[in-house]
Amino acid sequence: MTNVENVVIIGSGPAGYTAAIYAARANLKPVMFEGFQAGGIPGGQLMTTTEVENFPGFPEGITGPQLMERMKAQAERWGTECYTEDVTYVDLSQRPFTVRSSEREVRANSIIIATGATAKRLGLPSEGHFWSNGISACAICDGATPLFREEELAVIGGGDSAAEEAVYLTKYGSHVHLLIRRDEMRASKAMQDRVLNNPKITVHRNTEIIDAFGTGGKMEGIRVKNNQTGEESDLLVKGLFYAIGHNPNTSLFTGQLELDEIGYIKVKPGTVATSVEGVFAAGDVQDHEYRQAITAAGTGCMAALLAERWLSEHHLIHEYKQSAESEHYEAKAESETVADTEATFDIAKTRHYGGYALRKLFHESDRLLMVKYVSPTCGPCKTLKPILDKVVDEYDGKIHFIEIDIEADPDIAKMGQVVGTPTVQFFKDKELVKEMRGVKQKSEFRQVIDSYLPATVG
Ligand SMILES: Cc1cc2nc3c(=O)[nH]c(=O)nc-3n(C[C@H](O)[C@H](O)[C@H](O)COP(=O)(O)OP(=O)(O)OC[C@H]3O[C@@H](n4cnc5c(N)ncnc54)[C@H](O)[C@@H]3O)c2cc1C
Repeated sequence: MTNVENVVIIGSGPAGYTAAIYAARANLKPVMFEGFQAGGIPGGQLMTTTEVENFPGFPEGITGPQLMERMKAQAERWGTECYTEDVTYVDLSQRPFTVRSSEREVRANSIIIATGATAKRLGLPSEGHFWSNGISACAICDGATPLFREEELAVIGGGDSAAEEAVYLTKYGSHVHLLIRRDEMRASKAMQDRVLNNPKITVHRNTEIIDAFGTGGKMEGIRVKNNQTGEESDLLVKGLFYAIGHNPNTSLFTGQLELDEIGYIKVKPGTVATSVEGVFAAGDVQDHEYRQAITAAGTGCMAALLAERWLSEHHLIHEYKQSAESEHYEAKAESETVADTEATFDIAKTRHYGGYALRKLFHESDRLLMVKYVSPTCGPCKTLKPILDKVVDEYDGKIHFIEIDIEADPDIAKMGQVVGTPTVQFFKDKELVKEMRGVKQKSEFRQVIDSYLPATVG
């Protein structure tokens, strides 16, 4: 019989990593599927934000990606085994449970589900361009940032969350416009009163948004339409907050666990136990009310403690000893990238950094050029790094790889018409032959590279 794990954790946001830290500290050697593309990215929603100013312990603030990197390091320190893969199938009907990704199948005596929820988006034409730079799905998280202080802001949605966010944003913005598609709000009477009695909020009924606009990366306003009269107008708001609901990432569990009418996993009141014994749910996947990193982490802790208790009660615990490295941990220093200069540039090398190298290679290289554009606070850039590092190593001597920090080299980013990070562009003989945005699988990069490499003579 194949090895049966104590506990498998699905999802690597604050809930998943906290569960992993607790389970690993209890010598359970948890296995974690961090996810890849289904329902977000490894590290979860905080990988897509900049400063997190309300997570306890960081008075100076910490960026979302840094916080998640630290949580991951802590989980791994105590023996969590992480796979950067999406779970594609689970079977909770037989014990031990089965969890499968495209790469492997694992059997487990208990499971912690921490797959989070995805904020719904409207799909506006320029949504991607202004996302996290004017458009946000979390007023509580982003409302206090300097970008929105004393500016006019807009909230979209007609429910309790939208009403609450509009009221919350009046603390920071000079005025808040609440856009409602229908002619009345769905929010409770009490919430409606709070909105209607607030002189800093204007409610726009029967109003839909057409798009956002601005210059460069900066949002300057939105174009809206009255769906009764057809009249269009502009609102010069610097922030646009979506409060149109979330989709919990639970499609894997439909029919196997009790879900509520929206799809959130139902847990026993006051606990994180699901309708199947030995299966626990933590974080946003079971919480449509608080949806914060700290509440996700708190329920992740509860899930690990309950899983351990459950395994123990059923005499299923297989205990692992901590390694010497775990006990004497040394944080790895982050390696700094230094831009190539005339003095350091060497065309024989595969890896290069910065605008000088790109200009040189663009004119002088006879290899395929792979240009990665990143920015310092971009979480998905951190996710992509180990994936691309591996691919670049495989093609050592056959391609030229150049990393461009778009903050350090804004002119290069402008010339490359880069609208977001991470972006990877491939050039052959000075022609742009392919552009890939966001985090992709190694195989997708290999496919592009292989199609431009000279065929090897067999
Ligand atoms: C832009 C933004 C800013 C925010 N800022 C703040 C803030 O400042 N402070 C705060 O407290 N909260 C903030 N939040 C809210 C906070 O991010 C969430 O409440 C928190 O991340 C929820 O944690 P979670 O672990 O439940 O899920 P998530 O963080 O959503 O993580 C879910 C994980 O599950 C994985 N996953 C999904 N499906 C699968 C699958 N099939 N297989 C494997 N893995 C899968 C995903 O890859 C991801 O790793 C912010 C949210 C957003 C969107």
